[in-house]
Amino acid sequence: MDPLVSIKDERCTNCFICVKICPVKAIRAISDSKAPKIDENRCIGCGDCIDACAPKAIQYRSSIDDAKTILSSKEKKIAITSPSISAEFNDITDYRKFVAMIKSLGIDHVYETSFGVDIVANKYMNFFNDFKGRYYITSCDPVVVSFVEKYHPKLIPNLVPFVSPKIAMTKVVRTKHKEKINVIYIGPEIASKDEALLYRGDGQIDCVLSFPELRHLFEEFDINENNVDFSVFDTPLGFKGSLYPLRNGLIQAAEIDENLLTTHVISIEGKKAMVESIEEFEHNVKVIHRHIHVNYGNSLTGPGISNKGNRLFKEHLVIKYANKRISNFFRAEWYQDLENYSLLSFDRKFKANDQRLPDPSEEEIQKALKLMGKKAEDTSDCNQCGYNSCREFAIDMAKGIVIPEMCSTFALSHSKTFNETLKELNEKLAITRQTLRETEAKVKTEHDSARQASELTNAMLEKLRAGIVIVDYKLKIVKANSVFCTILGEEAEEISEIIPGLVGADLKKLFAPDIYNLFSYVLTDSESIDSRDVIHKDKILNLSVFPIINNQVAGGIIRDMKAPEVQRAEVIKRVSEVIDKNLEMVQQIGFLLGEGASDIEKMLNSVIKFYEQEKRTK
Ligand code: SF4
Ligand code: SF4
Repeated sequence: MDPLVSIKDERCTNCFICVKICPVKAIRAISDSKAPKIDENRCIGCGDCIDACAPKAIQYRSSIDDAKTILSSKEKKIAITSPSISAEFNDITDYRKFVAMIKSLGIDHVYETSFGVDIVANKYMNFFNDFKGRYYITSCDPVVVSFVEKYHPKLIPNLVPFVSPKIAMTKVVRTKHKEKINVIYIGPEIASKDEALLYRGDGQIDCVLSFPELRHLFEEFDINENNVDFSVFDTPLGFKGSLYPLRNGLIQAAEIDENLLTTHVISIEGKKAMVESIEEFEHNVKVIHRHIHVNYGNSLTGPGISNKGNRLFKEHLVIKYANKRISNFFRAEWYQDLENYSLLSFDRKFKANDQRLPDPSEEEIQKALKLMGKKAEDTSDCNQCGYNSCREFAIDMAKGIVIPEMCSTFALSHSKTFNETLKELNEKLAITRQTLRETEAKVKTEHDSARQASELTNAMLEKLRAGIVIVDYKLKIVKANSVFCTILGEEAEEISEIIPGLVGADLKKLFAPDIYNLFSYVLTDSESIDSRDVIHKDKILNLSVFPIINNQVAGGIIRDMKAPEVQRAEVIKRVSEVIDKNLEMVQQIGFLLGEGASDIEKMLNSVIKFYEQEKRTK
């Protein structure tokens, strides 16, 4: 079974309000921005954390599915409603409509707890009148009972040993209906959901619905006062038990003397009042000399009631409803019922379930104070954590209930560190930004330089009379000048107008293998090929290929040997080569023959001069 109260971690915003508000410190704060954890064993089911949690991360166990299962069963279904209905359903004009709406859900009989209140009140009256020297704490409120069992187990013998009115009424109803029945209790105290689990047999409640859950069912089944007829509560009806939701409603129902000068019972209500009065009762009962009737106050407030309006107005509604119920009341009949059903056993026992945490040592407390950033002499006690003093906070910190982050001094000093860290980070960020700006400027300059260099190279390549081509290791053209395109022919020239420099073109598609293999060779072996004549279509090309980046980029210089300017230069070059070779021969012959060689040299030199002159005049 799900715990009575649980936290949906994903909704939690780590505000720690629930940790601060829990009257029994059943919620532990956890570091690392995790949602707090509710200790199910320590929880007393007051529901305060649920109402305090703004993001609605805390919820109580839903009983809607259980109720639907009961409603769809073939067995007889009984509903018992709390007298608090008057404070919750003030939007329903007549309580008879309310009864009819419940019956429309498929309920066979609807009873009011107020008769159970009357029975229990009567028991209390007799019990208090039969005073045997022990003072008692009333035990109608399951939150109060749980608080005593878990945090003041020594007071268990001082709890009045009777069941609560809702259990008393269940016993009445189960006695009246002999057949098998399912009982649904409808009321505002969510702790009743756990209380019901304690009883089997004639006190067994099969499902506890809160008022918001009942409204949910009305809505789901489309039930409202306009589509039902009047109906009435089943008997036995309550008398003054309708006043039960009020602080001293039970005492009034019991007609116990409340005169402040003579009374033996003090009525107390509220969270702080419950905690303090029971604490005081434990230590000072000999001085108090009174029974205490304690309510946590959830009959008109808390998460089990959806009307969050003004409390006094709700009290007014309860009184108005009680007056209406007891007007024309058949007191004799009620008295007879009271006598009859009072014969049932309404006794109950309580069980210690000590959840008190051991007190930490002084050393542990001092360690916690130090961690909070508090010095021994520091008594600032700002109370912002919700504690009366730093020491109290430190004690709970040592017990593992709160974490230092909840202390504003710690949070502040931590935020200082955080701010310093933030400042450092900002400074680093500023330096990084500046570096980035400088790098960007440098890259831009380099980019501009590279662009200028590229433009310069392109211009220079275009000035050359030879065809220039640069290819990558896949023989794709990286760059080529216009002379290269001209050498390749018209088609290549047209393409170069669209793709300048034939960038990306495949050399293998432009040349035959005997030419492009020369480039492959240079790229593979990283050795130059100098002045190789090759045939391309109808042209004789003179090709030199050389590596630019070993194995990656190679360059080629190509000259069309049929071009006039190339022809003349080439003739001169080649005649020079012939002369050099002949001269070498002549020198060798001269060396052998001695005379006559100089005349031949003169003749050949004159041929060279002629061609050079020709070149200059062109
Ligand atoms: S009150 Fe709600 S949001 Fe705040 S810490 Fe508790 S569960 Fe989380
Ligand atoms: S229901 Fe009450 S006792 Fe339980 S965790 Fe919430 S505030 Fe604490």
